[in-house]
Amino acid sequence: MIKRSFFGLVKPKLQYEIIDEAPAEPISISASKQILLLIDQFPDSAGNDLFKTGDEVRRGQKIAMADDAPAYLLSSQSGQISKISEFVGMLGKKYMAVTIDVKPDAKRDVKSDAVRAVDESFKKACQAPSLDNAAKYLAGLPGKPDFSVFSDPEKPVKAIVVCGVDNDLLTTTNQYVVKNNIIAIKTGIDLICKISGISHAIMVVPQHLEQVAGSSGAIVKTVDSEYPSAHPELIVQHILASDDGKSMSESGIAFFSAEAVSAIGAAYNTGIPPLEKIVTVITKDGNKRLVSAPIGTPLQDILSEFNETLNEGDRVVFGGPMTGTSVFSTDYPVLPDTDTIIIQDKSQITERDDIACINCGECVRVCPANIQINQLIRFLEAGQYEEAADQWDLFSCIECGFCSYVCESRIPIFQHIKLAKHTLESMKAAEEINA
Ligand code: SF4
Ligand code: SF4
Repeated sequence: MIKRSFFGLVKPKLQYEIIDEAPAEPISISASKQILLLIDQFPDSAGNDLFKTGDEVRRGQKIAMADDAPAYLLSSQSGQISKISEFVGMLGKKYMAVTIDVKPDAKRDVKSDAVRAVDESFKKACQAPSLDNAAKYLAGLPGKPDFSVFSDPEKPVKAIVVCGVDNDLLTTTNQYVVKNNIIAIKTGIDLICKISGISHAIMVVPQHLEQVAGSSGAIVKTVDSEYPSAHPELIVQHILASDDGKSMSESGIAFFSAEAVSAIGAAYNTGIPPLEKIVTVITKDGNKRLVSAPIGTPLQDILSEFNETLNEGDRVVFGGPMTGTSVFSTDYPVLPDTDTIIIQDKSQITERDDIACINCGECVRVCPANIQINQLIRFLEAGQYEEAADQWDLFSCIECGFCSYVCESRIPIFQHIKLAKHTLESMKAAEEINA
């Protein structure tokens, strides 16, 4: 997959994965005992006042901290809440963790009333499609559609872009959805255009899916196969030819993954939000398979399906090899935006040395944002985050992870960048709350 230049003067090339001509159906995985829903907490979140341990919930029911809370998930199974706690994730991000015991007969007796119980709130709301009911009920769908982009009057949305490309290497989730669900994607695009009043829809796909994407009714654009050309910021710059230097958030473009748009189409068609996430799973032997699992399914159920066991020193990464994050518990669940899970044996893991930068310039050569990373990293390692932002373009980083991949000293540059951004953003949020 990687082609390195002999002289080291040309960028190394990483190619995105191309889905098979006739991909196998995803393996269907059920949550065996429980699902775990991780719901974003915001710095000023009030405590949970909607749910308590022992409450019964139905499939499709909205689970949030409060009625008007902006963050929520939909329960992918009917069952009973057995635990509500705080969960601290990557970079100290806090979640409300809701454990739901799945009805014991969920796998065996699909006809039982308890299992069939589906929350009807969206079915009623979807009779009159609107941005308001989409934001209220569908933000927890697979692919994590973000409807908040339509609510900023200072940044009006001018175009809707549907990404049928996968953001990281080895992943084929969105390609699979384009290949197999193009009718639902078309329905989803028509709906988003209708409720937002925006008629300009573009679908971005790899070249080999150009023809099938033509049935979506959207304008089709293609990206090349070289990482990180499918990154939304680079799509804005190169594919949509935004030559005014505006970033994704400033350019008036609402991005949705193909999976999210397909799920929106299916939800409005049937009145029942689909809550099965398609995930590319890579096992220790390097085999890749697509699975379909209810949102909230714990990692353990996926490991069991593939007969994988974790030993001391093995690693599980949620996300692709360039931008993913290690998780440390087999309870960690499939989230609405979990596209990839990589299970690695200890012997496959390259140790990070964290030795000093040798100024080789490899990171600078590959950086799509043209950041002087060899300078930036010195400030990040010293914890001088404000200087890194003011003098060395910290916030121009689009978080592709390429610099960490090529670093000769194996410095975890990408992780330093994420920590610095998170620290500065948290400080700013705290200042705004105090003000
Ligand atoms: S992660 Fe950021 S700094 Fe590193 S190569 Fe990508 S854009 Fe450049
Ligand atoms: S940070 Fe790593 S890749 Fe970049 S110049 Fe230093 S040693 Fe080379």
